[in-house]
Amino acid sequence: MSKRYTITAALPYTNGPIHIGHLAGVYVPADIYARYLRLTGNDVAFICGSDEHGVPITIKAKKEGVTPQDIVDKYHAIIKKSFEDFGVSFDNYSRTSAKIHHDTAQNFFKTLYDKGEFIEEVTEQLYDEKADQFLADRFVTGTCPKCSNEEAYGDQCEKCGSSLNATDLINPKSAITGNVPTLKQTKHWFLPLDKHEAFLKEWILKGHKKDWKPNVYGQVKSWIDDGLRPRAVTRDLDWGIPVPVEGAEGKVLYVWFDAPIGYISATKEWAERVGKDWEPYWKDENTKLVHFIGKDNIVFHCIIFPAMLKAEGSYILPDNVPANEFLNLEGNKLSTSKNWAVWLPEYLEDFPNQQDVLRYALTANAPETKDNDFTWADFQAKNNNELVAIFGNFINRVVVLTDKYYNGIVPSPSNFTQVDEEVLAAIKAYPDVIASSIERYRFREASQELMNLARLGNKYLADEEPWKVIKVDEERTKTIMFVALQIASALATLSEPFLPFTSDKLKNILSVTSSAIEMSWEDISTKNVLLPTGHQIGKAELLFSKIEDEAIQQQLDKLIASKKANEAANKTVEPQKDTITYDDFSKLDIRVGTILEAEKMPKANKLLVLKVDTGIDVRTIVSGIAESFSAEEVIGKKVTVLVNLAPRALRGVESQGMILMTENAEGKLVFVNPDDKSVANGLHIS
Ligand SMILES: [Zn+2]
Repeated sequence: MSKRYTITAALPYTNGPIHIGHLAGVYVPADIYARYLRLTGNDVAFICGSDEHGVPITIKAKKEGVTPQDIVDKYHAIIKKSFEDFGVSFDNYSRTSAKIHHDTAQNFFKTLYDKGEFIEEVTEQLYDEKADQFLADRFVTGTCPKCSNEEAYGDQCEKCGSSLNATDLINPKSAITGNVPTLKQTKHWFLPLDKHEAFLKEWILKGHKKDWKPNVYGQVKSWIDDGLRPRAVTRDLDWGIPVPVEGAEGKVLYVWFDAPIGYISATKEWAERVGKDWEPYWKDENTKLVHFIGKDNIVFHCIIFPAMLKAEGSYILPDNVPANEFLNLEGNKLSTSKNWAVWLPEYLEDFPNQQDVLRYALTANAPETKDNDFTWADFQAKNNNELVAIFGNFINRVVVLTDKYYNGIVPSPSNFTQVDEEVLAAIKAYPDVIASSIERYRFREASQELMNLARLGNKYLADEEPWKVIKVDEERTKTIMFVALQIASALATLSEPFLPFTSDKLKNILSVTSSAIEMSWEDISTKNVLLPTGHQIGKAELLFSKIEDEAIQQQLDKLIASKKANEAANKTVEPQKDTITYDDFSKLDIRVGTILEAEKMPKANKLLVLKVDTGIDVRTIVSGIAESFSAEEVIGKKVTVLVNLAPRALRGVESQGMILMTENAEGKLVFVNPDDKSVANGLHIS
């Protein structure tokens, strides 16, 4: 039966592009769900938008010397394009800097304010004297009172997921100046979550929410059991949505107050555009509201936002919040700041038109019940062993043989064998099997069922061997090809939620794009014939292509480069030595020289004995660089030489000077060349 759905996907934060972790955790599962519901005839509003307020954007703007608006404009465009490129089928992708959102969020606040749902309180908040600014959220870091993580933020600890107030932090430190903050009085509005505790308990713990994923239910239960406290929903900041009441000058709405309201404003914007009424999507009890998020957003979607909606009074509450765990990359946590990620724009440059491969690899390995690891080896295997070898191979054989034997016309079957009957019955069962997994938010399982249908086709052809049978029994061959074509046709429709680009291609190949022959999800279960005798299909076209080892190695090399750059950036820079005078400096005689000869010092791992042309003379210098260079490598190199260093005997050889070197990212000594990108700032010349 057709139903109305409002599906939201977490608003991506506009301080960078999006990566595979975002796609796997939120956007691919949400898109599979939305596409499936549309295919099964439901009324769907699939909503998302850019989250453009909050402290990290102002920090980034300051760092780059641009305005916060510049930052959000830049990343909003990049993120929006990535979603389009990867076929994420939002009905609307909006942004929280849009006027419609400012109005909606302010009205929402005003309604709660007028109803007396806030506590207005002057409290002491953390203040940075030097920056002349209050510190909240990401402007302040410190130790988490719950798990002792020393890098917790003023609003949340990313390690244990706890939602925090800035004043909860132990040893707080300003992220702007590094100063220890003082306390200063300021007025704010608080949402008394404690007041909503009874309702939340009833709704989540005793209600029907036991069908929520165990990880989500467990987290929410532990927060409620811990006891909820009032939470400030306003901030002393200049970037955000102004608090729309008197006496709130210079204050804006807390980003986590305004962001979820973004789902509502984006729905309004969409409804206006397509000439619909937005209200049933948010206010009709028969609408099913589902929030797709990552696990770090559970508290906001399962406690704070529902409390806000409940306090407002006219909204429905989410039916489910199928939050995913985190995806790791090659054994390490995905990180924007450490560039430990696969960015979507870069992926498409390296693997053009292979969006479905990534969608499939991420779904088949989705972090649904625990953190999971994305590896390039697994990505390659999913493509080569499943998409190419099973799905693509089956379709290619069916289409090529149909073209070869019947000029692309679906043949007429004669008697079905028991195997044929079983296969035809199995096709009819697949829509329900896949649907049941999708409706329980088990997308990984659903994707494997889809692949099982392709497996069935592949096995059927391998067992029946039409390419052999055609030599002895033309009628039997027609029946085999007819059955195989029915499987291909079912795959074209059932793959759409998972592999939208492949589904389109396959529908084109099978010429089932016209409305006369296009089938719905349900048709596959109910119709006896999906692709009728006499229907003309098109030419074969490869759906997937093999990914070679070199392409995978290139990706691994990129990650190794990130790792090395991080290690270099993390090298501790030693404090500056005591000041010297110009006279001290002028005592150093540094010249450019050329290494003429080099050989290893016997029985010394580190030492090379060099003959260096200094321009003054050719002299012997013993240098501790043998672990970084072979003797052959350095011959002919131009070097910087300290020529008036007092001679010194090393292993019986007198060294008459010193070659100046520094370290690169790998800890290898290199000749001094500040243009070398692998050399970090602050490293010693020695
Ligand atoms: Zn913590």
